[in-house]
Amino acid sequence: MSELAKLLETWEPVIGLEVHVQLATKSKAFSPSAVEFGAPPNSLTDPLVLGMPGTLPSFNRAALELALKLGIATESKIRARSRFARKQYFYPDLPKGYQISQYDEPLCEDGHVDLIHGGAVKRVRLERIHLEEDAGKNTHVGQFSHVDLNRAGVPLVEVVSAPEIGSAEEAAEFMRALHRLVRWLEISEADMEKGQMRCDANVSVRLRGEDRLGTRTELKNINSFRFVQNAVENEILRQIRIIEGGGRIIRETRLWDADAGTSASMRSKEEANDYRYFPDPDLPPLVVDGAVMANILRGLPELPSARFQRYVTEGLSPDDARTLIGERALAEFYDATCKATPGRSSKTIANWLLTELLGALNAAGKDITESPMAPATLSELVRLVEDGTISGKIGKEVFAESFKTGEAPAAIVERRGVQQISDEAVLTAIIDKIVTANPKQATEYANGKDGLFGFFVGQVMKQTQGRANPVMTSDLLHKRLGR
Ligand code: ADP
Ligand code: MG
Repeated sequence: MSELAKLLETWEPVIGLEVHVQLATKSKAFSPSAVEFGAPPNSLTDPLVLGMPGTLPSFNRAALELALKLGIATESKIRARSRFARKQYFYPDLPKGYQISQYDEPLCEDGHVDLIHGGAVKRVRLERIHLEEDAGKNTHVGQFSHVDLNRAGVPLVEVVSAPEIGSAEEAAEFMRALHRLVRWLEISEADMEKGQMRCDANVSVRLRGEDRLGTRTELKNINSFRFVQNAVENEILRQIRIIEGGGRIIRETRLWDADAGTSASMRSKEEANDYRYFPDPDLPPLVVDGAVMANILRGLPELPSARFQRYVTEGLSPDDARTLIGERALAEFYDATCKATPGRSSKTIANWLLTELLGALNAAGKDITESPMAPATLSELVRLVEDGTISGKIGKEVFAESFKTGEAPAAIVERRGVQQISDEAVLTAIIDKIVTANPKQATEYANGKDGLFGFFVGQVMKQTQGRANPVMTSDLLHKRLGR
């Protein structure tokens, strides 16, 4: 058992995540500059972003619609009138000297995210989801620091979980679930390498059975699923060792260094009043219209966690179900294939999709949206195999050819004459000939040499170029060989 696993018998980690997700709007949250990744530095700015005196913000309603989508999908309470607040701090990436955020009256409260862990769904409550603007980006090169304000003013939602994530793996699963959800809803591409989704992790530990939460630290700078897991795990271990060594945890902000695999203290934790939050006098209250809400609710697709549960109920393994909900387009491809293949095993369909089609797409460097094979075609292939027209082995060959050329599976089968032989009389005649031609093996098999059964199956397949129905072949061989 690892050191951590042993310590976790006594200690219980508690994690709360604060995740920032950029909203995929065309322009910024409070000003007209375009939102774009990779544009020349400081090419996407305007007087408001630059903090020029006399400029006034005007809220981009497109950001509200995206945030509402997430609020509704997470079953949050939506505030009919929420408020923007100023969060004041001084840093070169924020020329205005304050960030427009929401403080005491956030847009959404009390929602939940359903993550999948250990084959089951776990619900993690959300304290809030609020709107805010992003800051610019500083890069440090030698003795110089560069400021790029292209990102400043990009609309964000901050999603704050309740402190009820119970392990480093669960923290990573929370991130995955949220990532899946925002992509599913087309709220954000959430590309973590582009900084479109970022996470701070609050971590504390307490003795198992203890009600009170321990003192927490906040880890910053986490930008991949793997880093969330590593950073949280590392922090849990660090805290337990300190407490067991007689020390105590101090409330602080720590910076995760992914290369070193450790975190270092950055600053002691600032309190909310350090930011001197107050309602932004330049912005009216944010009013949410009931009709807009109803519209979003109507347009909401079946969500990933609901789909996961449906797939498992319909007979898929949790692993397959989880893979299928990885992308909405993949789940939709699967559903369309099932619809075209009524009465057939969902497991078989999922197998062909996840193994053959995803394998072929992967090899071709394509994703599911670029698949040259449509759901109806995959369905046709599955039916040919399931009906016994072709064997599973031939099915794979037909699949590969259809994937490459676009020809319909039934047409390939017809042209190549690879239909499975399921005619009992035909198979019996072939088997008869083979057994008669191999009397020595037949006697040895009859006397108990089990391994020779495979020899006879092989001979039948050789004679039929692999087209003999394998189940019938086996039955008829047993009959003919006397056991
Ligand atoms: P702050 O204003 O300092 O960001 P919040 O109360 O808003 O603090 O909480 C931020 C995050 O910290 C939330 O995700 C919450 O779940 C988490 N959190 C709060 N207390 C603890 C704790 N003792 N251990 C772990 N996480 C915590
Ligand atoms: Mg916070």
